[in-house]
Amino acid sequence: MKELMDWVSDILKGCDDNRSWEKLPEPLKSSLAPIREKIACLQSESEFFIYALKSLPNPIFIKDENVKFKLFNDAYSKFYDINAEEFIGKSVMDLPFIPEKSREIYHEEDTDAIKNGTIHHYHINMQDGRHTFYWSKGFRLPNDRRGLVGEIVDVSQEKELEKELSALKEQNRAIKNDAAIDPLTGLYNRRFLAENADEAVNKAKSENKNVCLLIADIDLFKHVNDDYGHTVGDEILVKFADIIKKSCRSDDACIRYGGDEFLIILFGTDYETAQKVANRIVEKTRSIKFPDGKNATTSIGVVKIEKDESIAQSLVRADEALYEAKEKGRNTAVAK
Ligand code: GH3
Ligand code: MG
Repeated sequence: MKELMDWVSDILKGCDDNRSWEKLPEPLKSSLAPIREKIACLQSESEFFIYALKSLPNPIFIKDENVKFKLFNDAYSKFYDINAEEFIGKSVMDLPFIPEKSREIYHEEDTDAIKNGTIHHYHINMQDGRHTFYWSKGFRLPNDRRGLVGEIVDVSQEKELEKELSALKEQNRAIKNDAAIDPLTGLYNRRFLAENADEAVNKAKSENKNVCLLIADIDLFKHVNDDYGHTVGDEILVKFADIIKKSCRSDDACIRYGGDEFLIILFGTDYETAQKVANRIVEKTRSIKFPDGKNATTSIGVVKIEKDESIAQSLVRADEALYEAKEKGRNTAVAK
């Protein structure tokens, strides 16, 4: 019957505006009423969820089993500054606003995600400088229908913050490092000794490495300042620090302990080698000349830091060794 066919055609077109319905004979209307109501309800539900999806603040898209776009939300159009509705039913290969190189990759990945229900995600640095996080996930309905949902998250701000944070961390590291450096000699200072040395020594000991401690003090340095002035005194300190640095390996810690006193922590160095290092410093220090041609000398105390000993405890023994070296007439190293 024609009236029924007209109404069914309107329903299929989604435009049940009452006109064709009113033309149906009364008995047919009453038996079709529940079906009509159900169809209206399903349409309304579908509109509701589509509207909700389209309102999501991040750009989203949905693809069908043929890897063709089925839905874009408003944020997607805004994100790419396009009218995304024009691309419904098309594949990513047809999207001119996606860089050509990327289209194929997305297509392949999304095809895989739809087939296997997997998730793909990656960061994309866009040509306009924005940083985005992109993910897509394949899904499968109980009736075996498949599809894919994807989202783009603009993470430009987070990236900026990340950059700022790493710059701040670097600054912080530099400030901390500066605070642990003696400005005159460039060697570590007492702050390093207090904050980092014990940890480094304990780590080495836990790795069964020998650790030795040297305390070196320039002989009769007071006279250097008195005889040649403070500036020359400073220059001698710098030269002495340089000799110490060059006598050690990069892993060792050379510390200006205060005034003309320096500590050297030798990691992975046995007692005999530590004594050789000390003797070498004693010898090289003699090459430092004062303005009148006389040479500088140093005295050094050497100890091995024992397993159960802290730096402070071994320093007491090293100090005793240094005192012995001074007592012996200076310009020598004593090991204890
Ligand atoms: P000793 O052989 O017994 O060590 O005699 P000394 O004269 O070297 O005695 P001491 O080590 O106690 O003297 C250290 C002197 O170092 C005291 C101070 O005048 C000088 N001094 C400390 N810090 C500095 C510095 O930064 N620059 C200069 N030029 N001199 C310093
Ligand atoms: Mg001295």
